[in-house]
Amino acid sequence: MKKYALPERVKKLIPYEPITGDYEIRLDANESPYNLPEYLKEKIIAEISEIDFNRYSDPYATKAVKAFADYYNIKPENVVAGNGSDELIGYIVSVLTEGKICVLSDDFSMYRIYAELYNKEFVIFQKERKTQVNNKTLEDFIIDPEKLIAFCQEQDVKMLMFSNPCNPTSMGLNKTDVRNIINALPETLIILDEAYMDFWNQSLIEELFPNVVILRTASKAFGLAGIRMGFAVANIEIITALKAIKAPYNTNAISQKIVEIIYSDKEYLKNFEYFSLKNKLVGDIAELGFKVLNSTTNFVYFETEKAEDIYKFLLENSIAVRCFGNTLRITSGTESENNVLIGTLKRFNNANSSNNTKN
Ligand SMILES: *Cc1c(COP(=O)(O)O)cnc(C)c1O
Repeated sequence: MKKYALPERVKKLIPYEPITGDYEIRLDANESPYNLPEYLKEKIIAEISEIDFNRYSDPYATKAVKAFADYYNIKPENVVAGNGSDELIGYIVSVLTEGKICVLSDDFSMYRIYAELYNKEFVIFQKERKTQVNNKTLEDFIIDPEKLIAFCQEQDVKMLMFSNPCNPTSMGLNKTDVRNIINALPETLIILDEAYMDFWNQSLIEELFPNVVILRTASKAFGLAGIRMGFAVANIEIITALKAIKAPYNTNAISQKIVEIIYSDKEYLKNFEYFSLKNKLVGDIAELGFKVLNSTTNFVYFETEKAEDIYKFLLENSIAVRCFGNTLRITSGTESENNVLIGTLKRFNNANSSNNTKN
C-alpha cells in the first residue's frame, strides 16, 4: 500500500538549533546584553493590561509602524511590519522574484535557507579576502562593489540579498558603494538587510529606490529579540505587495504595543553604552594576537585555526559564542561579561601558547 511521503527536498531540512544549555554568558546571538529598564517594563505592563485580548491584532501594526517610521524619519506608508525580519525574508524570497537570487558568502545563512526552501535558483558571490597581517584590526571579507555588480550582470540575477553591516563578518559597506550597486542593477531587486545599522551610520533607510527593500529589526540594538518584530522599508508598490502576501495577523497585539512604546522613547534608544565596549573588545582581542576584523556592529569576528578548540573551551567555562569553521563570532556583552571573556581567552592562550601568534 502506498503511503504518504514528505517531498525529498523537505525531508532533507533540519530544524534550526540554537545553542541550548544554561550558559552564564551568552555572546552567541548578537542580542543586547541588557534587559529593558524597570520604568519601561512597568509602562509596558500597564499598557498591555488595556489590550482587547479577544480581538485580532491590527494587521498593519499601524501604531508600531508609526513609531518606527517617526524614529527613522521616514513615512509610515513605506513600512510593513513582520514577525521578526526573518518572516519578511521568507515572504520576500518566496514571492518577490521568479528569477535567480544572488546571496553572498560569508553572510546571514537565512537567505540561502529560504532560497532552498522555496526551490529558488540561487548563486553565491564569494567575498574578497584582503588580509594584511599586523596587530591591528583588518579589512577582510570585503565586498568589492564592481565585482559584485559584474557577477550579478553575468549571472542575470533578479534578486540580490545581503546584510550591511554584515552578519557574521561585522564589516560594513559605505553608502556610496551600496548606492552604486543599487543604481548599476536597475532590473534587480536589492534586499538590503540593515539589522545592525543601528550600530553604524551608513543607512540608506531615508532614500527610496524603485528596486530596494531595506530590512530592519527590533531584535538587536534595541534589546527586543524576544518580542519578534522586524520591518521592511520600500516604495509603496513593493509595500503593498508585501501587505498582500503576508499572513493577515502576522504581528501580535502585545509586540505591537511594546514597539510603539520603545520606539517612542528617544532617551532609551540613544543609551548605547556598548558602542565603546565593543571597540574595547576589538582592541583586547587584537592584543591577544587574533586577526579581528574592523567591526561596525555589536559583535566581533576573527579567524583562527584554533576556533573549534576555543569555542569548546569557552563553553566549558560557561561562555557561549558562535563558531563557523575556522572563525569565531562573539557578541559584545556587558563590561563584566567582556572582561570574563578576555580573561578566559587569555587562559586559553596560556594553556596553548606554542603557536598562538600564528593563528
Ligand atoms: C538577527 C538578524 C536578523 C533577524 O532578525 P529578527 O528580526 O530577529 O528576525 C536578520 N538579519 C540579520 C543579518 C540578522 O543578524
